[in-house]
Amino acid sequence: MTIFWSEEQLRHRDTHFVQLGAIRASRESAERAASIAATLRTRGKVLCAPPDVGMDPILAVHDTDYVEFLRNAWDRWRAEFGDTPFGTGGHAMPNVFPQVPHAQKPDLIVGQIGWYTGDMAAEIVSGTWTAAYWAAQGAIAAARGVLQTGRAHYALCRPPGHHALAGKAMGFCYLNNAAIAAQELRKATPRVAILDVDVHHGNGTQAIFYDRADVLTVSMHSHPRSYYPFFTGYAEERGEGAGAGYNLNLTYDFGAGDTPFLSALDRSIAAITDFAPDALVLALGVDASEHDTHGRHAVTRAAFTSMAERIRAFDLPTVIVQEGGYESPVLGHLIADVLDVFDI
Ligand SMILES: [Zn+2]
Repeated sequence: MTIFWSEEQLRHRDTHFVQLGAIRASRESAERAASIAATLRTRGKVLCAPPDVGMDPILAVHDTDYVEFLRNAWDRWRAEFGDTPFGTGGHAMPNVFPQVPHAQKPDLIVGQIGWYTGDMAAEIVSGTWTAAYWAAQGAIAAARGVLQTGRAHYALCRPPGHHALAGKAMGFCYLNNAAIAAQELRKATPRVAILDVDVHHGNGTQAIFYDRADVLTVSMHSHPRSYYPFFTGYAEERGEGAGAGYNLNLTYDFGAGDTPFLSALDRSIAAITDFAPDALVLALGVDASEHDTHGRHAVTRAAFTSMAERIRAFDLPTVIVQEGGYESPVLGHLIADVLDVFDI
């Protein structure tokens, strides 16, 4: 019943992303995170800094070379190019990706950023590693709290995580907090389900567990034929090898409101019920909200509360980790409403 949040998570700040060909200020800003934390406090929630339990739970999910890259990337970039390359205020983000046969990892940092990044929405700044590390520590602490008490815990993870692959950052995400929490739960429970309700496909979480039968991954999201991340999130992606049948993508149309959203939720709940997990990770994105200026869908505040009630009815030990949800007059309240349902 604890909420985990560290002020260190604000150190990833003043970042940018490329949208429609323009470099814009990132929607996933430090101000967004501070706003959520402030609203939770006004709603009577108490936020606690997680303990530092080190790297092992992160390395249980992420590739060692990728984590090493994330830790050092900013210092290497600055050493190579300075703070403002070419005097133009350049940003530590890629201009080329290894989308060619026989690609090899280069030495120069600008090439390595393309190697370790899936898109141009994962700028690295001086505080990126520290913030991502502490977001992950929050997810780990929430998972351990759930295991100790059987009660739901929440981590205000920021940067978010569900687009991050084992070895790549993308979509504002660097470390996959939901996956790290699920892997931590797996230490004590044989079967874990992850339900991702963010408006975007949880492509990183899917990829991390794609060949595993012990972690069911369910993502409900806006159809990728016309929505980020475009290349994954389709119904035919069902897992492979031992994981065949243990990944489920449920889509609704761009701009959808309550009825398609809750219909996708009903199908998610049916799949999770069939799987019969011992514990649940809820990847809580609220960017399908009608008020969200980035997500551009039409789900009401009442529907998010209804969603939380239906998920709460599983009566499972539940870790809730924050994913998306952007500038909106109700952003923090949508999250607080969900936490109220779970008595957090
Ligand atoms: Zn999202």
